[in-house]
Parts: sequence; C-alpha cells; structure tokens
Amino acid sequence: MLRTGLLYLSRQQRIFNLIKNVGFARKMASRFVAGETIATALDAVTQLNAKGITASLDLLGESVHNEAEARETGRQYLELLDRIAERKLDANVSVKLTALGQDISDELGVEVVREVLARAKQYDSFVRLDMESSAYTDRTLDTFEQRLFPDFPDTVGVVLQSALRRTLDDVERANALPCRVRICKGAYLEPPDVAFPDKADVDRNYVAAMHRLMEHGRYPGIATHDEKIIAEAKRFAKEKGIAPDRFEFQMLYGVRRDLQEQVVREGYRMRVYVPFGSQWYPYLMRRLAERPANIAFMAGNIVKE
Ligand code: FAD
Repeated sequence: MLRTGLLYLSRQQRIFNLIKNVGFARKMASRFVAGETIATALDAVTQLNAKGITASLDLLGESVHNEAEARETGRQYLELLDRIAERKLDANVSVKLTALGQDISDELGVEVVREVLARAKQYDSFVRLDMESSAYTDRTLDTFEQRLFPDFPDTVGVVLQSALRRTLDDVERANALPCRVRICKGAYLEPPDVAFPDKADVDRNYVAAMHRLMEHGRYPGIATHDEKIIAEAKRFAKEKGIAPDRFEFQMLYGVRRDLQEQVVREGYRMRVYVPFGSQWYPYLMRRLAERPANIAFMAGNIVKE
C-alpha cells in the first residue's frame, strides 16, 4: 500500500514544486543524489573511484516538455562526458530517452541520443539507456535495436526489468545481438497483466534472466542490492567458470555502501549509479517506495543532526 502511494506521489510534479526548497526534503534527497551540479557529481565519483568502484552518472530529469529542453539535456550530457574524460574518471553515463525528447518525437530522441553516443564513442566510453515504465519498453528496445546498436555496438546498452512478464524473451533477443544488458527488478508501478504482482516471482525471474545473461550474454550489469541474488551470481559464476571480469555488479548511490565495498574486496567489479541534478523528486520517491523504512530512518537521522 505504502509503496503504491509513494509511486503515485512520484508522478505528482505539483508536490515537487511545493517541497523542492524545503530543507528537510532536500536533505532526504542528498542521501541518494550526488548534488545538483556536474562538479558535485564528479566529486562523488572521485571518492568512489578511490575505493575501486566505477560509476554511471545520471543527469536527473524525466520527460521534457519541448525540443529546447531535450537539446539542452543532450548538451549537458556532452559536457558531462568531456568533464569525465578531462578528470580521467572511471565512469560512464546513463540516459533516459524521455529526457532526450522521446515523448516529443522518436526522431528527436534518436537525434539527441546519437549525438551523446558519438561523443561517448570518441572517448571509448559507454551510454546505458535506462528503462522507464512498461509504456516505453517496446519503443526503447526497438529504438535501441534498430537505430542505435547497429552504429554503436560497443557504446550503447539497455536495461531489462525482471518484474515484467516479457523479460526472458527480451533477454534472448539481447543475447542474440549480443548487446550489453543491465538487469534490474524494475522500479515502476505496473499492471498485473504486464508485471508479476508477487515479489517472489520477480526475484525468481531475475535469477533466470541473470543466469542466461551471465552464461550467454555480453558483459551483463547485475543491478541489485539483494544479498541472496548477489550470492547466487557468485555461485553461478564459479560453477560455470565465468571469470569475475566478465560481468559487473551495480548498486545505487547511497544504498548499501557496506555491501558495495565488500563486493570489491572480494575481487568483483562494482559500478555505482550516481544520479545528480535539480530534478530529484521522482527519483527520490522511487527509492523511498523500494524501502519505506528509509523514510523513518532518514527522518531520525535528520532530526538528530
Ligand atoms: P529489493 O528486493 O527491492 O531489495 C533488496 C534489499 O536491498 C532490501 O532488502 C534492502 O535491504 C536493500 N534496498 C533496496 N532498495 C533500497 C533502498 N532504496 N534503500 C535502502 N535499501 C534498499 N529500475 C528501473 O526500472 N529502470 C532502470 O533503468 C533501473 N536502473 C537501475 C540501476 C541500478 C544500478 C540499480 C541498482 C537499480 C536500478 N533500478 C532501475 C532500480 C531497480 O529496478 C530496483 O527498483 C532497485 O534496485 C531495488 O531492487 P533490488 O534489486 O535492490 O531488490
């Protein structure tokens, strides 16, 4: 119930307008978001890199309202890639096609993301297309497969969500290319005809997808904080003789830092997804929905300070 309520609130821009300057809300956001500027985000990456952790930077912002906003987001990603290269950081970027104009027109989204891909290719970097709600799955995968991957096979990758019933088919499609996939559980509220309502099914589907990606895919990103699944990935890798440099674990900025460091100590690769920017509200609400106990935890910490 609480999860549903928080996910509903994540889509209410009016609420963001009300709380965006409230100190308490900004402080809550700062646990999961690496500041509002490229400079603060790169400082966070510097600290991660010092611990042997790589990063994927996400400029927060979802659907944009006009072409100028989409092009401005694209421009900021180009600057981000330049600055990552300048500072010689071990980081790539994650983008949402809606933030690059997909909702205005597919053509615009493709044009802007191709500029970002061309710049990333120049630096031998990488761009992950985040996956949004199921309303976008087909559009995102089709755009990826037909209009981006053929020209940028080493530079672009996608995300699949184990909550969706279709995902094992999409894994086969991705392995056939083969392309780089980040597998996650899925952060959006979905109808039961497209997604599993029971968490146990989501977790089971995750493990099935992860096995196929590890065995037959191309350098999968295993994005989860679920200790049982992480243990299963390590076990499966040993059983199948899959070397630790053939996949990477991925976690979110501010979530289970202890586990992030432990995984690195054990000799596995770890990439942390580092979101930053002024549009932090929907992202924060999705993180709170995943673990409503965070609200009490953070409120307690903020009151104590
Ligand atoms: P869960 O079963 O939700 O959690 C397992 C355990 O992890 C929990 O018991 C808890 O201890 C801990 N945990 C999980 N979340 C939190 C939290 N917010 N705060 C504190 N502890 C927590 N979703 C998409 O839909 N599209 C994407 O493109 C996408 N990209 C992602 C990229 C990365 C690198 C990661 C890590 C996640 C991404 N997600 C994305 C979100 C993902 O779908 C899940 O919503 C999120 O990761 C929580 O699921 P979990 O696998 O950690 O498992």
